Amino acid sequence: MSTLRFQALKETLNRKAVKVDEPARRSEIFSSNVFNETVMRQFLTKEAYENVTEAMRTGKKIDRNVADHISTGMKEWAISKGVTHYTHWFQPLTGATAEKHDSFFEPLGEGLAIEKFGGGQLVQQEPDASSFPNGGIRNTFEARGYTAWDPTSPAFIWGTTLCIPTVFVAYTGEALDNKTPLLRALQAVDSAATNVAKYFDKNVKKVNATLGWEQEYFLIDSALVASRPDITLTGRTLLGHSPAKGQQLDDHYFGSIPSRAIAFMMDLEIECMKLGIPVKTRHNEVAPNQFELAPIFEEANLAVDHNSLIMDVMKKVGERHNLAVLMHEKPFAGINGSGKHNNWSLATDTGTNLLSPGSTPMKNLQFLTFFVNTIKAVYDHEELLRAAIASASNDHRLGANEAPPAILSVFIGSQLTKVLDELEKVTNGKLSPQEKTELKLNVVGKIPEILLDNTDRNRTSPFAFTGNKFEFRAVGSLANCAGAMTVLNSIVAKQLKDFKVEVDKLIKDKKMKKDDAIFNVLREYIKKSKKIRFEGDGYGEAWEKEAEKRGLSNNRTTPQALKAQVSKQTKSLYKELEVMNETEIEARHEIELEEYAMRIQIEGRILGDIARNHVIPTAIRYQNILIKNVTGLKSIYGDEFARHAKEQLEIIESISAHIASINSNVNAMIEARKVANKIEDAEKKAFAYCDDVKPFFEEIRYHCDKLELLVDDELWPLTKYREMLFTK
Ligand code: ADP
Ligand code: MG
Repeated sequence: MSTLRFQALKETLNRKAVKVDEPARRSEIFSSNVFNETVMRQFLTKEAYENVTEAMRTGKKIDRNVADHISTGMKEWAISKGVTHYTHWFQPLTGATAEKHDSFFEPLGEGLAIEKFGGGQLVQQEPDASSFPNGGIRNTFEARGYTAWDPTSPAFIWGTTLCIPTVFVAYTGEALDNKTPLLRALQAVDSAATNVAKYFDKNVKKVNATLGWEQEYFLIDSALVASRPDITLTGRTLLGHSPAKGQQLDDHYFGSIPSRAIAFMMDLEIECMKLGIPVKTRHNEVAPNQFELAPIFEEANLAVDHNSLIMDVMKKVGERHNLAVLMHEKPFAGINGSGKHNNWSLATDTGTNLLSPGSTPMKNLQFLTFFVNTIKAVYDHEELLRAAIASASNDHRLGANEAPPAILSVFIGSQLTKVLDELEKVTNGKLSPQEKTELKLNVVGKIPEILLDNTDRNRTSPFAFTGNKFEFRAVGSLANCAGAMTVLNSIVAKQLKDFKVEVDKLIKDKKMKKDDAIFNVLREYIKKSKKIRFEGDGYGEAWEKEAEKRGLSNNRTTPQALKAQVSKQTKSLYKELEVMNETEIEARHEIELEEYAMRIQIEGRILGDIARNHVIPTAIRYQNILIKNVTGLKSIYGDEFARHAKEQLEIIESISAHIASINSNVNAMIEARKVANKIEDAEKKAFAYCDDVKPFFEEIRYHCDKLELLVDDELWPLTKYREMLFTK
């Protein structure tokens, strides 16, 4: 009797929604656990306060003396809220977040002790981080990396710990985390975009990239998950037959949210409020037990931190509700996967969204400038953008036949397409006054109206313009947004830099007026980047063929996609912008390849174990029951027995055939793994896992799933899809 599955089901069916106390007003608890400007005013000296806020605004270094004042203020605030420990919170290249807690407590001797937190401890720490991946940058024996405070993301309290957002770098200066290159990319886009924005408004001093992410996830009862070794260890099901009812009826999407899920969301939102994460929307997603959470957008660095933080908080809040939060991109085969749409734009310190048209022709030209430059950037670096979202788990979305596909393309809608078509016809050289008036009135001038009537919606494009922002939809639900944001902001920064040079050249050499020059350069960009624009359904064979004709890349697997990370073009891009040096680029590439191979390796091992230790023994047990039945029939009916045992005999044979296939495939997979494991070169190894090991998964799964259908339900040890997806 497969006790674990049935015990888990029994437990799950008996659960009630956990009661959550909702505060009268959420606004009252908003940010209550964040060391924000209001709290700083209260707990810091005037000098310290000014120092921090300036560092936040301009990135200026914090004075060491002042650091002592700041740390003392922070400590006093934290202690007043029941905090005992502090930690440098950072995002190593493993994708998760890391922290090591230290106590404020410090003995003075003679039975005396104080709470201490010095400026040095705030600003810099040396975690014993020798086991974080570093792609060969840091010899593990040296373990010489340090974390340094990032004042642009405020400190916060989680539980009884004060968390200080930090970067993680090697003593030799190379970045060992996700945040450092992101901060450099944000700096690059700030400077490039500010220079371009000044064409339209001299007062602009800073441009922030903005990010609003939408996190999709599945909620499955933790007992059910515990009964599935595959989910427990890999985050997804490696086998399981799809249920008779899947998402065909679409009755979950935007339907009423089940009560346990609602309680989880309320609890989570309250935690988010305290942490200053402005969560706003929640709803069901397409698949059963799939949900989405989205905050209001924020400055990109903070939004990235908030997403990393929330992924952690979700797991912990989930525990209180006996719910496992599955963030994997494809936890269930045949059921919609999960993504993390990255809504992105650029905003000036004067309060303008640069991807939003305005009330004057000049504002509209500004919109067009940033709009067209972004499209051109995506066109020029589509492979790098694809690489940024590549992972073993996201391959199940991007490489498979579902939206979004592995091919990068940009959707802008038919109305804006018309605008760009018109602009393609702009005169080469100086524009006549009539032409300008015509453009201002009938082309550029129409943009605000067009966008108001934004009925042009598309759900399948990997990169879509949605009215006042671009939505990068191909990002995986498990990913740290920093990867995608580093690439997107870098490529746009580079593009805007080049644009500025070209426009200035026309103004200087051809004596053109500023707007004439801008129109001229945009015209050329529109022509050059046309191939990346695609208005159709963003996946399927027809589009793959068409994309190939256009010369767009279609990198279906991670090892293939990652190549772009180390291309000549990428290296020169990052070098020019000072986002990453060659060592950092190579190290990251190696880490991602290693991670890929490791994930496939783990999946292969677990699938092999489950197939051998759970599936085959169960099938044999059932086969024995059938054999006993047939023998019994034979003892009753003698030679006539075959008439009564025909079906049983067929099932017995069928079971044998499936067992044989599973066994031979598992053996072959193990051999393929042995070969792959001997390979030293990270890229070759990743390819070996991708091309030689992974293909066995499907084969093995196929036969296991067939057995699931044949074997007596009472005996089957693994919780079934229908039980995981339809138990609420
Ligand atoms: P939907 O795309 O579901 O219709 P919205 O248009 O309201 O929903 O926005 C979706 C996400 O885009 C939200 O997280 C929102 O905060 C974010 N967003 C809106 N404006 C911007 C912007 N200027 N920059 C970045 N993100 C934005
Ligand atoms: Mg969206």
